[in-house]
Amino acid sequence: MSRIAYVNGRYVPHRDAAVHIEDRGYQFSDGVYEVCEVRDGRLVDERRHMERLARSLGELRIPNPMTPKALSAVLHETVARNRVTNGIVYLQVTRGVARRDHAFPPEGTLPAVVVTARTIERWKGEREAVNGVTVVSYPENRWSRPDIKSVSLLGNVLAKQFAKEKGAREAWYVDRDGFVTEGSSSNAWIVTADNKVMTHGASNGILRGITRTVILDVMKAHNVTLDERPFTLEQAFAAKEAFVTAASQIVLPVISIDGRPVGDGKPGPIATALRRDFHNHAEFT
Ligand code: PMP
Repeated sequence: MSRIAYVNGRYVPHRDAAVHIEDRGYQFSDGVYEVCEVRDGRLVDERRHMERLARSLGELRIPNPMTPKALSAVLHETVARNRVTNGIVYLQVTRGVARRDHAFPPEGTLPAVVVTARTIERWKGEREAVNGVTVVSYPENRWSRPDIKSVSLLGNVLAKQFAKEKGAREAWYVDRDGFVTEGSSSNAWIVTADNKVMTHGASNGILRGITRTVILDVMKAHNVTLDERPFTLEQAFAAKEAFVTAASQIVLPVISIDGRPVGDGKPGPIATALRRDFHNHAEFT
């Protein structure tokens, strides 16, 4: 079945979908994005993702491209037209097309909107969760606003490629003070020897993951103690468990960091329980 993309008001064949060469996303990475999980044909946590989108747009002073209702309709329509039952829907908004000039384009320049959707077989994620994944550490070298979900992902690209070349699933950024901030495309967590879950605070230095937010609710329901503070790589090496969270991955247990086994080198019970209960706390639309 051929794929369909939404590009600036039109549904077009994916292979022909294109934006103008002077789109500011293309020229300056001047745009933001969101990724929602699609599960059983429905969007997971659309409301929270759209709230974060509004915040990212606001921080960059990119006008809202359309009403929340219209945007929601496009997201659902793109999922339906691509017959995605399980997978992801991707939304990107850039500052639009204008003559190349670093400063913002003239008032009234329309933001550009692209939406795509694709199937990801559910068993693939389940297999990764059962086996656990590996991570490697990598120096934090991104700009200072990773809280904005911007398409300026060069630092994340280089970190992920580093991980890939090391045979790992994810790279964990370590900042100058030795603290793990987050992964190249996920949030980072550990479970300490005394069963406290640690993750970097979301006020600065990381993206406030939607999965992260929902997992905090799941933890409350399971009476898991949260210690929302940065942890060091040494603390991670000594952890009982570690895991990563992202909308496209839900929770994935981490079984090794820089080649050292985490705990007994198998997916841990807390990460596994959080993954199992996640969708009971998520919203479906
Ligand atoms: N941090 C980074 C850098 C990411 O790219 C992502 C995934 N987009 C996350 C964290 C997790 O965010 P979410 O749970 O909203 O997918």
